[in-house]
Amino acid sequence: MHRLWHQLLRKFRLMSRREQIALAATALLGLGAIGWVTWTELATTTPPSISMTTLIEDARKGQIQSASISQDAIELVYRDGWEASFRGQLPDETLVQLVQAGVDVSFGGSAFTDFFSKNGLALLMLLPMLMIAWQVLGGASRFAIGGPTKLLDPTAAKYRFSDVAGQDEAKDQMTEIVDFLRDPETFTRLGAKAPKGALMVGPPGVGKTLLARAVAGETHSAFIAVSGADFRQTFMGLGANKVRNMFKLARKNAPCLIFIDEIETLARKRSGSAGSGINSEEEATLNALLVEMDGFVGNKGVVVLAATNRPDLIDSAVLRPGRFDRRINLEIPDLTGRIGILKVHARNKVLAGNVDLEIVARRTTGMSGADLENLLNEAAIRGTKRAALAITMDDIDGAYFDVLLGRVRNGAILRDDDRRAIAVHEAGHAIAAATVEGAKRPQKATIVPRGRALGVVLSTPIEDRKLVSRQQLMGDIVVCLAGRAAELKAFGAAGVSTGAEDDFKQATSLASRMASLWSMATSTPVLSISDDSSTTARQKAEERAQTIIDDAWTQALEALDRHKNAHAALVVALLERESIEGAEIEAIVHAHADSRPPVRPIRAAE
Ligand code: ADP
Ligand code: ZN
Repeated sequence: MHRLWHQLLRKFRLMSRREQIALAATALLGLGAIGWVTWTELATTTPPSISMTTLIEDARKGQIQSASISQDAIELVYRDGWEASFRGQLPDETLVQLVQAGVDVSFGGSAFTDFFSKNGLALLMLLPMLMIAWQVLGGASRFAIGGPTKLLDPTAAKYRFSDVAGQDEAKDQMTEIVDFLRDPETFTRLGAKAPKGALMVGPPGVGKTLLARAVAGETHSAFIAVSGADFRQTFMGLGANKVRNMFKLARKNAPCLIFIDEIETLARKRSGSAGSGINSEEEATLNALLVEMDGFVGNKGVVVLAATNRPDLIDSAVLRPGRFDRRINLEIPDLTGRIGILKVHARNKVLAGNVDLEIVARRTTGMSGADLENLLNEAAIRGTKRAALAITMDDIDGAYFDVLLGRVRNGAILRDDDRRAIAVHEAGHAIAAATVEGAKRPQKATIVPRGRALGVVLSTPIEDRKLVSRQQLMGDIVVCLAGRAAELKAFGAAGVSTGAEDDFKQATSLASRMASLWSMATSTPVLSISDDSSTTARQKAEERAQTIIDDAWTQALEALDRHKNAHAALVVALLERESIEGAEIEAIVHAHADSRPPVRPIRAAE
């Protein structure tokens, strides 16, 4: 309480003058109203009296219909007609809790109507206070009332790693956390640094929550699951308080794993220049989280796993060493992953002999673990409706179209011809990356959709390198354009697709920077272009950038001509297995290398 008061005081100082005045006025009005109410209140006789704990408890259970507050007692009417009273004065917070729990709070009991006609103004003054009180606890109902104990999620205990199919890499990356939670003392005894937190990154439904549960289950740790949004929309330091209470609870129950879903809502970048930044309340909450994590003493046995689909939104302070300093990527599963997931969810279902999960997996490119679970559940429901003994392939087919329709609308599922087009396009990128001098080597090619970006995952982005040569930049642009170049060769000018939008954006941005900032379009340096440059100057720079694109385009077409067979082989491999590692891409290129030299020097600047 004392600490909360300090918090409030600090928050108050941080507020703008206008906010301060508004708040002070509201508080005064509220206090005045309460004073007025209590002063004019008549003492009334009281039914059996209950303790404050019972009062709060019953209110939370929704058993209390109304509470009428008088000077030194509160009369309660229960939903079942029972009456009770609480003797003494109620702290404002508790009052707020009652309101929040849906209790009809009034002042003055039966005299209320009478009172209102006389003192309507006082009541009106009370209104803003109640509104603020409502906001204080609003939106955070998960643990607004009754303390945070119910944050503990006992169901995690029954999960194991075997419940998480695929995602082997993610599981591997959990090893250290698992070892630590299993035995924090031993882990840290020789000075090993205890892991504090990790950030799980991946689209919805790929098993982030599931994996966190499994880590808790495997290590017999307590499990606390919250969402970043639970901490928002609170007022005056309460979010921070919730964070502290949560960690207190975790320490009490150590070893304990805290899972924070949608961490980006809690830990947004602070620098939001365009009003997108976090406000001071959110900042206080975030700071409380960081302070708690920094404060872990070695072997306490508390680890925080956070999940997000938008790592780009997260404040970098959150990712520093000793905080969420490990990043664990979870992807939409590929074929092998989908087979595994289907098997996991088929364990408790009765499948007919004709059901071949591998065939199901082959048809569900792009579906997440949650989609696949959903698919089998829908199929089971269909089977049950037919009063069948087992789920048949027909049930799965029926369910497939339901689930698919939902997903196609979200653009996450590929039709067969799209699948082929994407394979051609991505194989184009991959071939260029593997063969064009200066290009970054391909790490992986895939036709599994990942958000907007389909395809080749390249290594370090430009910005991370210190000095970049013209050849490297050209290589990157050639790789960008090679997707479209491959489409052109495979499907003709009429068959090219919209799939290259991001490629062109990236190529354009690189080429214009080359032309306008780095003077790389011509052999003699030219004036660099800025926002202040004249229209003609900018036009010229654009023309120069276009020559770079033209040059890269020619190179992309040439690379694909030279490695036609490798490209075809890679397309087949992608259609078959969906993702191909970088080493294998290079092996395919090698195996299909023709007599001409595989790599041709890039033309120097003119
Ligand atoms: P996320 O937290 O990434 O949004 P969840 O963990 O909530 O996803 O996944 C939702 C459900 O989908 C899980 O409870 C599980 O039944 C199923 N699921 C998702 N990924 C997998 C997986 N890799 N293996 C098995 N089941 C999965
Ligand atoms: Zn592309």
